[in-house]
Amino acid sequence: MARDSRYDILFEPVRIGPVTAKNRFYQVPHCNGMGFRDASAMAAMRGVKAEGGWAVVCTEQCEIHPSSEIAPFIELRLWDDRDIPALARVADAVHEHDALAGIELAYNGPNGSNFYSREVPLGPTHMPIATFAYDPVQARAMDKADIANLRRWHRNAALRAQQAGFDIVYVYAAHGYSILDYFLSRHHNTRGDEYGGSLENRLRLARELLEDTKEAVGETCAVAFRFSLDNLRGAVGLERAEAHDAVGLLAELPDLWDLVVSGWDNDSRTSRFAPEAAQEPFVAGVKKLTSKPVVGVGRFTSPDTMVSQVKRGLLDLIGAARPSIADPFLPKKIEEGRPEDIRECIGCNICVSGDMTQTPIRCTQNPAMGEEWRKGWHPERLPPKGSDTKVLVVGAGPAGLECALALGKRGYRVVLAEAGREPGGRVAREARLPGLSEWARVRDYRVGQLHKLPNVEVYYESALDAEQVLEFGFERIALATGATWRRDGVARTRLEPLPVPSGLAGGLPLFTPDDLMAGRLPEGARVLLYDDDHYYLGGVLAELLTRAGRRVTLATPAADVSNWTHNTLEQTAIQTRLLELGVEIRPHRVLAGLGAEAAELACTYTGRTESLACDAVVLVTARLPEDGLYRELKAREADWKAAGIASVDVIGDACAPGTIAMAVYAGRRYAEELDAPDIGDAVPFRRELTELAPL
Ligand code: ADP
Ligand code: SF4
Repeated sequence: MARDSRYDILFEPVRIGPVTAKNRFYQVPHCNGMGFRDASAMAAMRGVKAEGGWAVVCTEQCEIHPSSEIAPFIELRLWDDRDIPALARVADAVHEHDALAGIELAYNGPNGSNFYSREVPLGPTHMPIATFAYDPVQARAMDKADIANLRRWHRNAALRAQQAGFDIVYVYAAHGYSILDYFLSRHHNTRGDEYGGSLENRLRLARELLEDTKEAVGETCAVAFRFSLDNLRGAVGLERAEAHDAVGLLAELPDLWDLVVSGWDNDSRTSRFAPEAAQEPFVAGVKKLTSKPVVGVGRFTSPDTMVSQVKRGLLDLIGAARPSIADPFLPKKIEEGRPEDIRECIGCNICVSGDMTQTPIRCTQNPAMGEEWRKGWHPERLPPKGSDTKVLVVGAGPAGLECALALGKRGYRVVLAEAGREPGGRVAREARLPGLSEWARVRDYRVGQLHKLPNVEVYYESALDAEQVLEFGFERIALATGATWRRDGVARTRLEPLPVPSGLAGGLPLFTPDDLMAGRLPEGARVLLYDDDHYYLGGVLAELLTRAGRRVTLATPAADVSNWTHNTLEQTAIQTRLLELGVEIRPHRVLAGLGAEAAELACTYTGRTESLACDAVVLVTARLPEDGLYRELKAREADWKAAGIASVDVIGDACAPGTIAMAVYAGRRYAEELDAPDIGDAVPFRRELTELAPL
């Protein structure tokens, strides 16, 4: 199909210094938890983006010298010539599809503790290290010799990047991750020499690195400057007006301006806290200050929004990290006139959690992300079916939908049976909660794609029992029947069921997330929400209850609310929102017992108990698989042969409750591995081993 002419503007080439981007789709640098440890996996992931039509594909940040490294986080390294081949693999993978390869050179300075290299970190002034942890490390103030060294290291890294084949070389001054952020900040930079004081002086090192880089590689490589337009620290930091002054001062020096806002948590806000194109107020006006092309992000998934950004003179290039992760083929789909096929990012930041946990990137929407090389998975293509077997998938939640879709794409005949009246399972329920509406995209994308597959039939209001499954005569059965929240308080901290007087009757009314999502809210005004789950749901339900007029106390054994969301960069925003809504937060508390009109909370350190008067308790604790059908079928294994059944598998939350991303992955994995040879005890993915150096 021809593309809609409205989107032609997105396919115009853009000149960036000595190179030309073939269209306006620009994959900005993004971390992925693979970096130097999983170099081939990372290269393959970037290659798939290029295949999907992005004109520019960049690496994550790349350390340029061992005097600044950010262990335990896994990024790239270009410390010496030995690092060139791994980087060249990335550039080659990107070039294979006629895209430009960009590399984000980074010198973190006060943002790395150097626990690996044991070098003393450098900064503009003496200051404690500004990492995610309160590491007991300080950076020392740089003298002129240190500045000269840094300039040489950066120049050498740029030359190595050029040798590795990169087309765009970055000078990085953003997210609070670069030493340049700290030089720029009045708050951190209190130097009395020509590198401190006025904005010109605080910009001096950035200017020098840009000039050095241009001089070293500028003939063949474009030099990009990645810059935070506001570090949202108020007057002590770089505010929007001063940042715009900085753009004015350096205006024509870089070949490209890559704009971000503040730290990573603000730059990659989740859909719960920011809509598409949320950075527009910061970016507006920058293009008037420079004639050089400008790229910016905004979790853009709508081609109309992208066109509007270009037409209104905000951006020249549509920057994307998350939308390119959720759908590496986003540009191709617009180009081929099928934007409805875009697998839109839901803004959950599971992708970020890979980097935060030092494990390969995962994506809720794109189960192939991070598995391109390890498992040979592709975001768009699947291997053809291995037989004419017919598959019954039970349950149309994220696992069942993905399973049916991936099997259908392979060419299998599939029946998807769902007990309820609508598809989506937990996603359909959770998307109705405050701030989570975009999560419905997990369902909508898959339902939209399933409609295109004549070999997949979907039946609703079809709650199946073992007898029916045995009667149907499918050879393969995949059970994706989901999970239910526990009502007994058992999770991580409490291992004994709560001594409940008599369930709902008599004692305090108890509610689970399933009750609340089904619209059953406590009647009383005072609600204790006990969160021993620690991901997003406890915080979201506290918000739901508060907005419904309840006075909520959130008690949790953890030190803070929704603790795991540190990994999705949301914890600060969540706790701030709850405090602003008036939720009372009781950290370090375990639910010890329930009375008729009060709950008993015990301190996780001392065990000392206190009584909290309330009218109802909501337990956000743990889930149990809905695996009754699986157990029934297993109990009747002797009947399978006569019924023509070769295998019954349980996948997703029905196997082990987890994230939506895990359920989608489980669905995809079932489909990928159907009719594949048995690999026995072999490691089920490729991995890269360190080559041993001679002794
Ligand atoms: P997952 O995250 O693993 O996909 P969900 O809980 O989101 O799990 O979805 C499970 C789906 O399975 C729900 O929509 C539920 O209605 C459906 N389901 C559960 N048991 C049956 C059954 N016996 N027959 C058909 N559908 C079922
Ligand atoms: Fe988007 Fe979530 Fe995928 Fe990240 S993990 S790209 S936020 S859908």
